[in-house]
Amino acid sequence: QILVIGSANADHVMNFEYLPVPGQTLMSRAYRLEHGGKGANQAVACARLCQGDAEVAFICHLGQDSVGNDMRTSWLKDSIKAEGITQVANMNTGTALIFVGDNGENSIGIAAGANAHLTPSELEKHYALFANAQFLLIQLETPMETVQHALQTAKRLGITTVLNPAPATSQELDYLKWVDIITPNETEAEALTGIEVNNEEDAELAAQWLHQQGVATVVITLGSKGAFISSAGFTGLIPALTVQAIDTVAAGDTFNGALVVGLSEGMSIAAAVGFANAASAITVTREGAQRAIPYRHEVQR
Ligand code: ADP
Repeated sequence: QILVIGSANADHVMNFEYLPVPGQTLMSRAYRLEHGGKGANQAVACARLCQGDAEVAFICHLGQDSVGNDMRTSWLKDSIKAEGITQVANMNTGTALIFVGDNGENSIGIAAGANAHLTPSELEKHYALFANAQFLLIQLETPMETVQHALQTAKRLGITTVLNPAPATSQELDYLKWVDIITPNETEAEALTGIEVNNEEDAELAAQWLHQQGVATVVITLGSKGAFISSAGFTGLIPALTVQAIDTVAAGDTFNGALVVGLSEGMSIAAAVGFANAASAITVTREGAQRAIPYRHEVQR
């Protein structure tokens, strides 16, 4: 079983010719509501990409509101286990208000809502889900104490821990000692290590820094260039697929979900990254967050 822990957000996205300035009210060109949040996107990726009787559990807190109900229904349709999903009374589902200008500029406000309620003591209520897990996949959109507690608990149980250190943080990450595999993108790698990452050589330096903190396997995603792996078994770049990208939202989340699915099936790290590149290449050809994430048969094709 794969255990994902993390956030869910209702993304309210509005497109404008230019971003409204303070005091200004502007009519948007287009509006849509996306099911997003890094944790939820990664759980959906795992569920759609795994095969056979593999199980995916997702520990997440939603509000008891209509978007929370819709998300839950959609995840159950993708066969995510129901046990980890909690709807908290009198709280909103996490919400992001995203303004996008025609030049690609954006301005984002987030209300954590129920995500902030996922505390270490709430996590302990789901101990049974840890007991059945081989892999833990977690990000940094839930409270830090919760991330730390989850990693430590997983490590104690012999679960392979995968940290996607997103959103970027330059905070002291003393819990890297509990991380087996870390998967930053270029920005996140720089925030963690202080090393600017633009190419394979920089990625190798950043990976060395992360190894020194005790992380055995480093996978740095490099957008359309692919992903750089530094591990005991394999070091090198696995190139991305060449596609017409129209929307890169959830690319990294698809990559992380696919990577863990691949590893859970016994693929080598290089093969799992190849599988993750293929899955996320499909995501970037589609608009949206969770709705852009492909199913296994699509990746295979
Ligand atoms: P994030 O979405 O977290 O910023 P990246 O931009 O590094 O992460 O993208 C994650 C992965 O998605 C890449 O390693 C690559 O496999 C795939 N990807 C991203 N952008 C493209 C693209 N333009 N073409 C093909 N694959 C892409």
